[in-house]
Amino acid sequence: MEKEKTTEELLKEKLFYKKENAFEKNDEAYRSAVKEYAEGYKKFLDSSKTEREAVTTSIKMLASRGYKEYKLGDKLEVGGKYYLNNRGKSLYAFKIGSEPVEEGIRICAAHIDSPRLDLKQHPLYENESFAYLKTHYYGGIRKYQWATIPLALHGVVTLINGENVEITIGENEGDPVFCITDLLPHLAREQASKPMSAVFTGEGMNLLIGSEPYGKCDEAVKLNMLKILNEKYGICESDFVSAELVALPAGKSRDMGLDKSMIHGYGHDDKVCAYPALTALLESENSPHTLMCVLADKEEIGSDGVSGMKCILTLDLIYEISKSFSANAGVVRMNSMCLSADVNAGYDPMFSEVYEKRNSAIVNCGVVMSKYTGSGGKSSTSDASAEFVAYIRNIFEKDGVIWQTAELGKVDAGGGGTVAKYIANQNITTVDLGVPVLSMHAPYEVIAKNDLYETHKAFCAFCK
Ligand code: MN
Ligand code: MN
Repeated sequence: MEKEKTTEELLKEKLFYKKENAFEKNDEAYRSAVKEYAEGYKKFLDSSKTEREAVTTSIKMLASRGYKEYKLGDKLEVGGKYYLNNRGKSLYAFKIGSEPVEEGIRICAAHIDSPRLDLKQHPLYENESFAYLKTHYYGGIRKYQWATIPLALHGVVTLINGENVEITIGENEGDPVFCITDLLPHLAREQASKPMSAVFTGEGMNLLIGSEPYGKCDEAVKLNMLKILNEKYGICESDFVSAELVALPAGKSRDMGLDKSMIHGYGHDDKVCAYPALTALLESENSPHTLMCVLADKEEIGSDGVSGMKCILTLDLIYEISKSFSANAGVVRMNSMCLSADVNAGYDPMFSEVYEKRNSAIVNCGVVMSKYTGSGGKSSTSDASAEFVAYIRNIFEKDGVIWQTAELGKVDAGGGGTVAKYIANQNITTVDLGVPVLSMHAPYEVIAKNDLYETHKAFCAFCK
C-alpha cells in the first residue's frame, strides 16, 4: 500500500518546479530509441570532422530523401525539397510548406565547424632532422590538451588550375598519425611551475610529421616529406598557400561508460545539434510549415565571412523564397522563428565552482533552452522574449520533450555566444537550444545519448 501524500507534498507537487531526468523514464522502447538514434549520430560525427565533410555527409542524407540542389534564383514549388550548398562549407536545407510562406519559416540552425589546428600558409620546416608543420589554432582551445594525442590531417589543397585535391591522413587502419610533443616529467620542473597558458604557446603548436631524410643534403627530411606528398597527391610546397588543411584528433567516436550512456568524441560542438536539426527536417515530411535547417561554418571564430552566419546569404535566400511565392520578405522574416542550436556547458561536479547549479545544464536532463547567452551583464546576446520562451515551453510540453533551461556557468565566470544574435538581428524570433557537453572544446568531448535524443525530439516538435 502506498502511503497517502500529505497536504504539503501535494502542494509542493503542484507549485514547485522539478527538473526531469531522462532515466526516470522507465520505458524499454524509449531506451532502445535513444540507443538507436545515437548509432546514426556517431556515423554522422565520424564522417563530418570538418565543415566541408559535414556538408558532404549532409547532402548525401538530403539527396537520399529527395532533396534537390538549389541555386539562388532557381524556381521553387510548394512541397519542393531543396538544399543550397554554400561553397562546400555551409548548407541551407529547406522544404516549402503547404501554408503561405508569409506565415513564416521555421528555422533550425547549428554550426558544423569545430575547434582544431589549421596549418599555416607556409607550414613545413625542418629542425634538427625532424620535419614539422606549423599551425594556427582555430577557435577557443586549451592548448595543452592537444599535445601528445594522435592527430590526423584533413582538408583540401586547391591547385593553381582550380583542381581540388582532398587529403585525409590518419583515419584508416595502417595510416600514420601526427602529434605535438610535450616534455617528460623528469625534466619538467620549471615548466610545471609556469601558469598553464605559458606552457604551450601558439607558436609552439608544431606538428611532428617525420624524421627520415631523402639522400644527403640540407633539409633532407623536409625534402623527403615533400617527395612523399608529391608522389601521393601531386602537390608542391607552394600549394600549401591555397590549402585548407587541419590537424584534428584521429579516430572514431566511442561509447563511454560501462552503461554506454554517453559518447566520447571529437566535434560534438556542434555536430551534436546539427544532426538532430537535420534529421528533424528529414522526418517532418507532413509539416504544413516551410522549414529550414541551416548548417553554418565559422561559428568558432566569430561567424564572419561568406560561410558564417553573419553573411547576408540567409537574407538573400529568404528573399528568394518569398519572391517565388509573391510574398513580402520582411513579413516572412517577421513571422519566422528560429531555434539556434548550440551546445551548453554541462554541469561538471569536478569543477562545480564555476557553475551555479540551479541554472546549469544537467547531463541526462534533456535538451537545454537558453533564453540568453553572452557574458558579463548579458552582453552580446539576443535574449529571447518571455512570450517566445512560453511558446517553446508549450510545444515541448505537448510533445513530452525532456528539457531544461540553463546559462553558461556563474555570472561573471566567463561566458560565450552563439549564432542566435545574428539570426535575431535579421528580425527573426530566435532562442538558443542545445545539448549539455562535458570538456567542451577539448579534443574529445562528452555528451549523453539521452540529451542527444531529446534535442532531436525538440526539433521535431518545433517543425511539426
Ligand atoms: Mn558551438
Ligand atoms: Mn564552440
